[in-house]
Amino acid sequence: MPFVTRFAPSPTGYLHRGHAFSALTAETAARQAHGRFLLRIEDIDAGRCRPEFEAAILEDLAWLGLQWEEPVRRQSDHLSDYADALRDLAGRGLVYRCFRTRREVSGEIGGAPHGAMEVFRGQALPPGEEARRLDAGEAFAWRLSLEAAERALGGFGGLAFIELGQGSGGEHGEIVARPELGGDVVLGRKDLGVAYHLAVVCDDARQGVTQVIRGQDLFEAAHVQRLLQALLGLPTPVYRHHRLLTAPNGKRFAKRDQAQTLRELRARGMTPTEIRREMGFD
Ligand code: GLU
Repeated sequence: MPFVTRFAPSPTGYLHRGHAFSALTAETAARQAHGRFLLRIEDIDAGRCRPEFEAAILEDLAWLGLQWEEPVRRQSDHLSDYADALRDLAGRGLVYRCFRTRREVSGEIGGAPHGAMEVFRGQALPPGEEARRLDAGEAFAWRLSLEAAERALGGFGGLAFIELGQGSGGEHGEIVARPELGGDVVLGRKDLGVAYHLAVVCDDARQGVTQVIRGQDLFEAAHVQRLLQALLGLPTPVYRHHRLLTAPNGKRFAKRDQAQTLRELRARGMTPTEIRREMGFD
C-alpha cells in the first residue's frame, strides 16, 4: 500500500511554529512508512499570496531539515484543472451561480434561528433573473448545491472516511461524512473562479495523496471534501488531523504573530534541532 502525504501551505505570510509542527508531523509519518512527502503551494488567491512568502516557505522548511519531492506543485499553475472540475459539476447541475455579496450571505446566516447551524444554503435564481444579472455583467460565485448533491448520490449515508488522528471533537476511526456542516460551500470564487475545497480535492487526487495529514482546524473540511470526492469520482485518502500547537498563553499560532515565525526564531539563534526537540521530533 503506497503512502503519500503532503504539506500544503498558502504563501500569505511566514511560516510559524504551528506550520513547522504540521510539516514535521507529515514528513515524519512519510519517513516512518517509507512513503513519499510532497509539498504543495496553495496560491490560488493571487491577491493575498506573494512570491517572497513562497520563497521563504521553501527556505524555512529546508532550514528545518525537511526534504520533499520535486517538483513542488503550485496551484496557480493548474487553474485549468479546477475549471474543468467545476465545469463537470456545473454540467450535472451540482453547482449554482450565487450573486449575493458577502454581506448579504452573512445577513442571511445571522437570521437563522438560534442554535441552527450557521451555514449558507441557497439555490439557483429563476432562469430569467439569472440571465438578466449575467447580461448586466454582475459577478457571481459557484456554490455547491447540497440538495442536488444529495439527490445525485441518493443521500449522504454511504459517505465515510477514515480518521487516524483526531477530529475537532476527538472523533476517530470510520467517520460518516456530514457535508451539511459546510453548507453550500463556494467552489468557484467570484474573483478567482476556483476556491479552496475544489482545488484541494483535485490536487490530492492528481498527486496520488493517500494520507492527508494536517491540523485539526481542517477536520470539518474533510466532510465537505469527502462529498466532492464522491461527486467527482476521486479516491478518498485516509485523514489524520493532528492537535494544534498552542502558545504558552493557550492561543493558536497565527501568521500575524511575527515573534513566532521560523525566521524570527532563527534570527534569535534557535536551531532546527531545538525546534524539533521542543515539538517531540528527534
Ligand atoms: N492551504 C491550507 C492551509 O494553509 C491547508 C490545506 C490542507 O492541508 O488541506 O491552511
